[in-house]
Amino acid sequence: MNKRKLGKTGLYVSEIGLGGIPIQRTTQEEVNKIIDELINQGINFIDTARGYTCSEAYLGEALVGKRDKFVLCTKSMARTYDMMKKDIDISLSNLKTDYIDIYQLHNVKTEEEYFQVMSLNGAYKALLEAKASGKIGYIGITSHSLDFLEKIIDNNPFATIQFPYNIIETKAESLFQKAIRKDVGVIVMKPLAGGAIENGKIALKYIINADFISVAIPGMASVLEVKQNATVISGDFTDDEKMYIKEIRETLDKDFCRRCGYCMPCPQGIDIPSCFVFEGYFDRYGLVDWAKERYGNMKHFASACVNCQACIKKCPYGLDIPRKLKRVVRIFGK
Ligand code: SF4
Ligand code: SF4
Repeated sequence: MNKRKLGKTGLYVSEIGLGGIPIQRTTQEEVNKIIDELINQGINFIDTARGYTCSEAYLGEALVGKRDKFVLCTKSMARTYDMMKKDIDISLSNLKTDYIDIYQLHNVKTEEEYFQVMSLNGAYKALLEAKASGKIGYIGITSHSLDFLEKIIDNNPFATIQFPYNIIETKAESLFQKAIRKDVGVIVMKPLAGGAIENGKIALKYIINADFISVAIPGMASVLEVKQNATVISGDFTDDEKMYIKEIRETLDKDFCRRCGYCMPCPQGIDIPSCFVFEGYFDRYGLVDWAKERYGNMKHFASACVNCQACIKKCPYGLDIPRKLKRVVRIFGK
C-alpha cells in the first residue's frame, strides 16, 4: 500500500485508511481480525469518533499491543473547553492508549460554531492543552460545509481537514489543492458517497488517482472489505470503468444529497441534510438502531414537511426533496 505524507504532521499514511463508522455494527472478535488484516495489508490509518458509539472501544481493545502500527485519529462534537477536555480523556480511555495522533473537531458547520470553538472557553483550548501535555499529536477539523472550510482555509491552524470527496461529489477539489499547498493533510470521508456507489474498487481508484488527497477512509466492517479495498491501485481507467463512472453520475446526480445545506433553512424547521444522512446510515450502512436514535433526537421530523417546495429552488442539484423526505418518513415512521 502506497504511503503519502499527511501534511504538516510529517506522518506517512496509507492512501486508504479505515473509516470507523461501520465498526459499530460488527463485533469485538471481527474488529480484532480487521486490525490484523490492516497490518497485513500495510494500512496504517484509522479514523473513528466519540459519536460512533462502541467504535472507539472496539478499536481500542483490538489495538492492544498493536497501537504503534497505526496513525490513530478520532474526533468529538464538543464545542466547549470542558466538554472537549472530558471527551479527549474518554477517547484515550476507550482507545486504550496514552496518545492519539490526530484529534479532530467533528462536523463544524458554520462560522458561528467555529467562533464558539475558538473562543476563550471553546473546545480548541482543550485541544491545545492536550497537545502541549502530549495526549494528542495534532489537531484537525472535519466538516460537510464547503463554504465554511473555504472561509477558514487561508488562515487555519489545523494539521488536517476532512471533507467528502467521491465520483459524484467533486466540488472540494480546489479546496483540497489549496490545503495541500499549505501543507494541510487532506482526509477524504464518504469515498463511496455514504455507500451509494457500490463498486468500491472504482470509487477508491478515482480518489487515489488525485494527487491532492492524503488518505481516503472507506468504512470497513469485515476482513473481506479490508482485503478488497487493499487491492485498489491508482492508474488509468479502463473503458468499462469510465462507463461505470458516467453511469453512476447520471443515476445519482438528481437523487443523491451531498449534505451541502444550501436548501436550508426549511420554514418547518426540518434539518433536511441530516434526514438524508440518517436515512443512509439506516439502509446503506445497516446501522439501524443508531440511525433511529439519532433521527429520534431531531427537533423536527421529515413528516413536518408541507411540500412548500422552497427547498427545491435552493438545492443546486434540483433534488425533489419533499419526495425524498417521504421515504425518510416511511423508514423512520415519523
Ligand atoms: S418542501 Fe418541505 S422540506 Fe422543503 S422547505 Fe418546504 S416544508 Fe421544508
Ligand atoms: S438536499 Fe440539496 S441542497 Fe439540501 S443538503 Fe442535499 S444536496 Fe444540498
